[in-house]
Amino acid sequence: MKVMKVDAVVAGAGIWGCTVARRLAEAGRHVLVLEKRPVVGGNVRCEVDAETGIEVHTYGSHIFHTHIPAVWDFVNRFVTFNGYQHKVLTNYKGRIYHLPLGLTLINKFFDVELKPGEVKGFLEVKGRSEKLFDAFFRGYTCKQWGKSPEEIDPSIIKRVPVRSNYDTNYFTDTNQGIPLSGYNSLFDRMLDHPNIVVRCSAALRFEDGALKCGGDELPSVPVYYSGPIDALFDYRFGHLPWRTLNFEMEKLNVCDYQGTSVVNYAEAEVPYTRIHEFKHYHPEDAAVMNAPHTVIMREYPAAWKPGDEPYYPIDTAESRSLLDRYREELAKVNKSMKSGNGVRIVCGGRLGGYRYNDMDKSVEAALKVEL
Ligand SMILES: Cc1cc2nc3c(=O)[nH]c(=O)nc-3n(C[C@H](O)[C@H](O)[C@H](O)COP(=O)(O)OP(=O)(O)OC[C@H]3O[C@@H](n4cnc5c(N)ncnc54)[C@H](O)[C@@H]3O)c2cc1C
Repeated sequence: MKVMKVDAVVAGAGIWGCTVARRLAEAGRHVLVLEKRPVVGGNVRCEVDAETGIEVHTYGSHIFHTHIPAVWDFVNRFVTFNGYQHKVLTNYKGRIYHLPLGLTLINKFFDVELKPGEVKGFLEVKGRSEKLFDAFFRGYTCKQWGKSPEEIDPSIIKRVPVRSNYDTNYFTDTNQGIPLSGYNSLFDRMLDHPNIVVRCSAALRFEDGALKCGGDELPSVPVYYSGPIDALFDYRFGHLPWRTLNFEMEKLNVCDYQGTSVVNYAEAEVPYTRIHEFKHYHPEDAAVMNAPHTVIMREYPAAWKPGDEPYYPIDTAESRSLLDRYREELAKVNKSMKSGNGVRIVCGGRLGGYRYNDMDKSVEAALKVEL
């Protein structure tokens, strides 16, 4: 390992780890960032397709959206956003509808012309909400989670939000967009600081009571870890369960395949949940938008097994209790370390916290981490 002064180690260079690393560096600490993958950015990482120049979101579409001023200010220090406004369309039996459930979808689906004040009463008529739910949520949820909606939460049908207007903007946050210079530049710029050294293809391990990377034992400094919490303890109590996704990418010699960035496929019979078409995330880039080719990606949810990419944590009583055991273990380790040399492991991010967080919530959490 390159000899350098290290005051803190950040293991995992996703958006959580990069935010923590930047804060540490700006607080004057010398930070060693370890990233298991060959590149930084975690699941927000993109690849620019060399042939078409299209920014492909390797781990599925990522749209930055937030109403948290501190988060928006922080990310805008590094990149400028293009103002892209996300819309999601859904294909049900070959017809295309605008999500979320609002006047555009409801009027088309029932072939009516409801006004805002009429939506509630219309959906209270027996069978109508169920019909909507069965068309747009039942099949999709079954594919997404491998379970029927009632198995996940019996009250789910009553809780699907309905808008009584024509607003088809998917998110209600005040700020939204995609970095003009691409997502990777966000991470490169966050880590571009004289106090930060980055090592990729370098995984942190906790072995025999010591933190290691490759053959090296790490210096006794605070560690900010955003890998899976169960992996840190070599899965000694078992694996926390996840859903995974498989992506199938295709390049097509057409300018525009589906006319928008994401189309969901609502029916259970269609094996994928959505098709992403990435060029639509950069409407400001005329060269990409007008080029006679496009890149699409089909997304297939699947059962997870150890070794697969973890995407969505599965919230059950068993998984919560397993998570508690790992948290207790972490507390024990931190207690023993603290009594020695003041070192501690802070476990965070989506893998370390075993929770789904949008990017803004990940940044918010990282901005609040005690340094
Ligand atoms: C399909 C999908 C779509 C999403 N779309 C959106 C969206 O549109 N908008 C939005 O705001 N959010 C979205 N999200 C959420 C977003 O992906 C997360 O908020 C974000 O990735 C969390 O960042 P993180 O740093 O916690 O985790 P990650 O991005 O997973 O980063 C963790 C990093 O730690 C590394 N690592 C693991 N173990 C070790 C180790 N032992 N040592 C060193 N490094 C290690 C990993 O390789 C990884 O790079 C989406 C999530 C999914 C699953």
